[in-house]
Amino acid sequence: MPKLSVRDLALKDKRVFIRVDFNVPLAPGGQEITSDKRIKASLPTIQYCLEHGAGVILASHLGRPKGKPNPEMSLKPVAVRLAELLGRPVKMAPDCVGPEVEAMKPAPGEVLLLENLRYHAEEEKNDPAFSSQLAALCDVYVNDAFGSAHRAHASTAGMVAFVSQAAAGLLMDKELEYLTKATKNPDRPCIAILGGAKVSDKIEVIQNLMKFVDRLVIGGAMAYTFLAAKGEPTGKSLVEADKIDLAKELMASAGDRLVLPVDHIVASEFKAGAEWEAVETIPEGKMALDIGPKSVELFNSIVNGSKTIIWNGPMGVFEMPPFDKGTFAVANAVANSGAVSVVGGGDSEKAVKSAGVADKISHISTGGGASLEFLSGLELPGVAALTEK
Ligand code: AMP
Repeated sequence: MPKLSVRDLALKDKRVFIRVDFNVPLAPGGQEITSDKRIKASLPTIQYCLEHGAGVILASHLGRPKGKPNPEMSLKPVAVRLAELLGRPVKMAPDCVGPEVEAMKPAPGEVLLLENLRYHAEEEKNDPAFSSQLAALCDVYVNDAFGSAHRAHASTAGMVAFVSQAAAGLLMDKELEYLTKATKNPDRPCIAILGGAKVSDKIEVIQNLMKFVDRLVIGGAMAYTFLAAKGEPTGKSLVEADKIDLAKELMASAGDRLVLPVDHIVASEFKAGAEWEAVETIPEGKMALDIGPKSVELFNSIVNGSKTIIWNGPMGVFEMPPFDKGTFAVANAVANSGAVSVVGGGDSEKAVKSAGVADKISHISTGGGASLEFLSGLELPGVAALTEK
């Protein structure tokens, strides 16, 4: 069911609580923000609420302070950067609940940033009393923190029981729109490209994708567990021996919809600049660190014939040249395919950015873990909690 959007709310003179993902990377010491990407990602929602006459309360976690205050994980530097980006003052609360915070509730047009939600262990425990304290600060609730939507915490799920309306912010809306369309009603052919280190991390994703994709292309270290399951030599490549039977089952149910690399870039050692060669059969003692040129050609031909592409995980050790070529070639093909492309967070995002093609991807998810759970077919607690339209 579609969820209420912030655009559906009457915001004038209301106090809106926006759960944002301001879990920004900080330089050691916790004073300097090294990337403000996550702050910028929720600016449209914050500005929308301010323009529509609301007073805005912003709440986020930052790092893992394990239930107690830790000045190195304070959101204070975020308040400073946010004020610069918004061009208006941002008040910083000393905590996220309690009388001092209640006394700071914002008037229309004002912005209050609460201190790190995870200074309280009750946040991750989804404690009802803590949830109701958070909810008491506001009239309406908006969740824009897609990156935390797979967690059932007080600020992402629990407090919704204590508010009259809970809506998706503009960033959350965009995430749900792309991910829902790609998985529920994709333009076809619809393909998924999966890569990365381990089959074990992505079993549910593979199983769910197999329900609806026309082709599932597998690269990265994951592919070698599948090749081992086919009885092919894998040398010293990463293989999860305890997942070989599962790989056999997955291949049997997928048939020719599952596509594996047909050649490999192998090296004797796991080292940047290591001597390499392209092979169709992995020699004993060598490890495959990237897909080879024939696989690139094969994968790209599948990419080019598709209308929807879901991509998660690199095709090789893309952090370590020369084993980045396969991933970058696929990134370029996806970007130039003309298909609707949805890229999962984390490494795939880094790959499309390093390849310089991020602006040609239809949607890059802001939530690595959350997008994987979505692709696994799971209902995200932070989404389930939102009010239905
Ligand atoms: P994941 O977090 O599961 O998406 O895995 C990403 C990691 O998988 C990256 O750090 C890659 O370097 C690594 N990776 C991809 N392909 C290979 C490979 N063939 N051998 C070893 N590691 C790989």
